[in-house]
Amino acid sequence: LEAIRTLADIPAAQARVRGQATAVKFGDRETSFAALDAASNRVAHALVAAGVVPGDRVSALTKNHDSWYPLFFGAARARACFAPINCRLAPAEIGFILGDAGPKLLFVGEDFFDCALAAVADLSAPPRLIALYGAHPAFEPLDSWLAGASDAAPKDAPQRADDVLQLYTSGTTGLPKGVVLTNANYRTFLEAATRVDGFAYGEDETVMIVMPLFHVAGTNVSFSGLAQGGRLVLVKDFSAADAVRMLREEDVAHAFLAPAMIQMMLLDPAAGAGPYPQLKSIAYGASPIAEDVLRRARATFGCDFVQFYGMTESGGGGSYLSPTAHDLPGKLTSCGQPWPGVDMAILDGEGRELGDGAIGEIAIRGGIVMKGYWNRASATEETLAGGWLHTGDVGYRDADGFYYVHDRIKDMIVSGGENVYPAEVESAIMGCPGVADVAVIGVPDDKWGEGVKALVVPAAGAAPDPAAIIAWARERIAAYKVPKSIEFIDALPRNPSGKVLRRELRAPYWEGRDRAVG
Ligand code: ATP
Ligand code: MG
Repeated sequence: LEAIRTLADIPAAQARVRGQATAVKFGDRETSFAALDAASNRVAHALVAAGVVPGDRVSALTKNHDSWYPLFFGAARARACFAPINCRLAPAEIGFILGDAGPKLLFVGEDFFDCALAAVADLSAPPRLIALYGAHPAFEPLDSWLAGASDAAPKDAPQRADDVLQLYTSGTTGLPKGVVLTNANYRTFLEAATRVDGFAYGEDETVMIVMPLFHVAGTNVSFSGLAQGGRLVLVKDFSAADAVRMLREEDVAHAFLAPAMIQMMLLDPAAGAGPYPQLKSIAYGASPIAEDVLRRARATFGCDFVQFYGMTESGGGGSYLSPTAHDLPGKLTSCGQPWPGVDMAILDGEGRELGDGAIGEIAIRGGIVMKGYWNRASATEETLAGGWLHTGDVGYRDADGFYYVHDRIKDMIVSGGENVYPAEVESAIMGCPGVADVAVIGVPDDKWGEGVKALVVPAAGAAPDPAAIIAWARERIAAYKVPKSIEFIDALPRNPSGKVLRRELRAPYWEGRDRAVG
């Protein structure tokens, strides 16, 4: 790590000591650290030749692909800020983000050529369009754009204060916000991550990347893996069957998975067939996990499990539940303890720190916390008020210093004056026979203000009885938390980081009315 001062240094630092070792494997293609280093330099020179100056934004719109990595590091070396875009969004939403970020160049994968053209149509300053892979007359091929670019390191060295990544939040609660992270943020992140189980990898160990590279989990697990000389196996699209197969066949030692991915993998018949001898750890996070899913996953995969709680605004860091803590009594529902060098607290509505056991807003402080939101001065001021990052999540800390995240403040249901956290209700229902997936929302209720409603995805071939689900919940949670109504649905709307879009599920019930929370 001493050789890594900025994000831009990662490939060069490893190329010096393990140049021929594989940095990234994508399908059958393997890229060595030396090749990644040279490709990153070429991108940097081509960006400078294209008129990119320090502080400029450049963006990408593509599924996971190995050509992303030279873009990350090349942009960092050109002292540009890389702002990747969630490719699952609609063209209008992508247009909104492009308008917000204002990139000079947009690198596009072949599945998104039409989408990109639609998204840039109304921009006053549209970006120059480059085809990352695939061909289209309106896009300059990457190879010709790179032609003649030197593979030596650029002279203008990146600075700690440079904005290096602008990651958009998942847009779970509203429009995505551009989170600006600097090289200094990433230096702090790497220092802490390499001391934390689940992010600390051995040299040459294989790390599977299935989270999208436009999400903080995808980028950070990648950076942490490469910085420690790991070998990344990058997956283009998540499928449960492929992920299970790759865990076995690709010699995977570590993986980061969203709870929704784990849930789907457990339904794959191949998941339970035999041990995973080389698998050391599965890290999970980005949304709550149902206790039943976690228990089954630990039994099925037989490796260490590490939970991460964090967000884009905290540069992906925050708290973690270590493998050993998973076995401590009562801690399985905790999101763990703060990372080294990270402060956490529970705050009341006025920003005062609360004591153990008191419920309030989770707050995070430290060198990993973002510089701010791009173009959103007042949202930045509000979110970073008093020197704390206000997470928008409700929770508490126990007497041992472990944190518990109940849910997002905006999703909390206030029913008859009692607060109900959907995640807790979902976790209770998840283990009920015949239930494959569930989301809990608040719907208007004349008597209680809000009523608890569960939207249930039945397991394949099952037709669960609503009364049985309610009875199941009643045995596990307090009566006021039990859903008053159950509806069946084919699938839950989720974003690419696996988060249920409860605001979409809520919308039809609240048409023309205001919710008190959120
Ligand atoms: P937006 O801010 O645009 O609404 P988002 O909050 O989903 O989207 P991210 O930054 O990707 O965007 O997600 C951070 C949020 O994910 C946290 O605030 C928290 O609600 C949730 N989360 C992350 N890790 C965990 C975890 N281990 N357990 C429960 N929830 C988690
Ligand atoms: Mg958020």
